[in-house]
Amino acid sequence: MSNQEHAPEELICDEAPATGIEVLSPRDVPLGGPRALQVRRTLPQKQRSLIGAWCFLDHYGPEPVNGAGAMDVPPHPHTGLQTVSWLFEGEIEHADSVGSHILVRPGQVNLMTAGQGIQHLEVSTAATSVLHGVQLWVALPDTDRHTAPFFEHDTPAAVQVGDARLQVFVGSLLGSTSTVRAFTPLLGAEVVLDPGVVLDLDVDPAFEHGVLVDRGSLAVAGTDTPTGHLAYVPPGAGTLGLAAGAGGARVLVLGGPPFGEQIVMWWNFVGRTHEEVVAYREAWQAQVADRTDGRFGVTAGDLAWIPAPPLPNARLRTRG
Ligand code: MN
Repeated sequence: MSNQEHAPEELICDEAPATGIEVLSPRDVPLGGPRALQVRRTLPQKQRSLIGAWCFLDHYGPEPVNGAGAMDVPPHPHTGLQTVSWLFEGEIEHADSVGSHILVRPGQVNLMTAGQGIQHLEVSTAATSVLHGVQLWVALPDTDRHTAPFFEHDTPAAVQVGDARLQVFVGSLLGSTSTVRAFTPLLGAEVVLDPGVVLDLDVDPAFEHGVLVDRGSLAVAGTDTPTGHLAYVPPGAGTLGLAAGAGGARVLVLGGPPFGEQIVMWWNFVGRTHEEVVAYREAWQAQVADRTDGRFGVTAGDLAWIPAPPLPNARLRTRG
């Protein structure tokens, strides 16, 4: 996924945990192109930029793919983060500059560690009639953010817990552990609840959590959270209560200890300073100009690479 906003803001993210539960509303963002797939972005936003190391959450579909609504994101760069693709429906082709070429399918986690720099493309396949999923970004800690890029793929086991089913795609929950690598303590899981089911998840009290409602509605720690919204739960509790409504619910549970580092996010880059982000942009633009190898490597194929948007005129101040 590429941030396709025409004039993306530079965000300085370092907020402290909140004291109570927040219900964050999604905002609609076109993913680019005249017949763009529309995504619902719940992170980052004015109220909150980070949940643990999770720093970006785009939710899309279910959207019929018939020309419009397709995912068509040509090669673009990333630094300082990991991307996590998780699908509910459809199929996406992923290729990147470390030589990965894979089909992303429902129930399979695909995690790309950008580290010092990578480029990749994501295109929904011709076999896809409906596209429905999320893309998440994870900020890398300062100690690991210059690591060499790599790509991981895994199919986490589906586990039945009472009247709920879950798949843990990052970290550990209820005895299930993902095989993909996280650089800070982190949780990402899909949980499907039958109608009316109440589930008290044992969670790490050092973690703050986010619960994205993909389908249905539910109460998160007693707070009603509508479809498409993200409930934020501050650290401190050893259980996370999920109570599904009459239609049941499918949610993503995200978590991690408060990240504790100030990051600068702009376009597809995570860095620590404005100057660093400017240098990432210059390195990418130099590769685009001559279609050459460099910091981000080269993805196989002949698709045009996405040039970086202009930098904002003003540097933003820290929020909050
Ligand atoms: Mn991307």
